Amino acid sequence: MIEEINTELESRFKKHLRGTLSRSNKMRSKNVHVTDLTPPCSRQTWYYRKREEPERDDGLIGILFMGNIVHAAVPLTKRNEVPFIADVRNMKPLTNLNEITDVNTYDCVSGTADEILEYKGEICIVDKKTYSSKRGWNPKEPDESYVWQLNIYKLLMYITEGVEAKYGAIFYMDVATRLEKPLIFTMELKPIREIQEYALKKLDQLKMLVPPEKTITWKCKYCPWNPSKGGPCDVTSAEVLEATRKK
Ligand code: SF4
Repeated sequence: MIEEINTELESRFKKHLRGTLSRSNKMRSKNVHVTDLTPPCSRQTWYYRKREEPERDDGLIGILFMGNIVHAAVPLTKRNEVPFIADVRNMKPLTNLNEITDVNTYDCVSGTADEILEYKGEICIVDKKTYSSKRGWNPKEPDESYVWQLNIYKLLMYITEGVEAKYGAIFYMDVATRLEKPLIFTMELKPIREIQEYALKKLDQLKMLVPPEKTITWKCKYCPWNPSKGGPCDVTSAEVLEATRKK
């Protein structure tokens, strides 16, 4: 009986974590979200949008869940969790997700910036990230996809509020050390025209009826669509090894 109660509690715990994460994923599944445009490989996002996502491992579920908690519990500015929606093809602000239809899905992007910091007359868009140093990874520089994420928030803010943020910051928190010391990477953001071109290129790739070209990077190792994980992508292990060597 004691064993059974242990198992029952553990199973309820895992179900709660997975249930919470899948509910928050479903809420944004139809529209193109900022994070759909940021991974280096658009084919990866294309699969995420077209197929049922494979099961995530418990370690990753824990990090994502902690991320949600920490995001809500650590506000750094007066403007946090700021939602944006805009038609980035026509540079038009939108006020409601209902304005995104089957016709304009791939013109529009929605997303929520974690923090908008106003400091000495300048605007800095901040995105908080959690990671676990226990998993053997410590950021030495901001991940490129996170840098694009900040830039796309800049584009959305510019379209919806007419304000051009000059700076962005990635604020990494290590859950393995109980948030002991954040790693912060502040940077100047890109020009509006360059960000719009990038976003439109990504939207056009996601709009395709067939999977877009693959972009092979070291991240393929962790991609659920990799054939080594039973996924449909035709990337080979030799190609991934080569990309990892070049990293
Ligand atoms: S395995 Fe690599 S190339 Fe294939 S979809 Fe995933 S990230 Fe893209």
